[in-house]
Amino acid sequence: MSLNLSHFRQRLIDELEKGEMSLQASHSAGETVILDQSSVGRLSRMDALQQQAMAYELTERLQLSKRKAHAALNRLDAGTYGLCCQCEEEIDPSRLEHDPAAVFCHSCMEERDTAHHGHGH
Ligand SMILES: [Zn+2]
Repeated sequence: MSLNLSHFRQRLIDELEKGEMSLQASHSAGETVILDQSSVGRLSRMDALQQQAMAYELTERLQLSKRKAHAALNRLDAGTYGLCCQCEEEIDPSRLEHDPAAVFCHSCMEERDTAHHGHGH
C-alpha cells in the first residue's frame, strides 16, 4: 500500500484533539442553558430547550467522529488502515484525504446509502 500512514495518523490525532476541545466547549454551553432555564420565562425556556437539543445533537456527532477517529487509529496500528471494512478493498486515498476516518470504500458506501434511502418506500 502506498498510503502515507504517518500523515493520516497525524490527521486522526488532530481530529481527536479537535473533537475533545469542541466537546468540552459544548459541555459548558449545555450547562449554561440549564442554569438559564430556571430564571427565564416560557418563550425563552423553549429557546433554551431547543438550544439544549442542538447542543446534545452536536455532542452526539462529536462523540461519533471521535469514536471513528479512534477506531481508525486502531486500524493503523493493526495494519488494516485504508481497507474497506466491508469488502476489504483499498479505499481511494483521495477519499481518505477528505475523511481520514472513512471506514468503507466508495462503492460500499454507495451501496449502504442506497439501502438506507430505500427504507420506508
Ligand atoms: Zn468496500
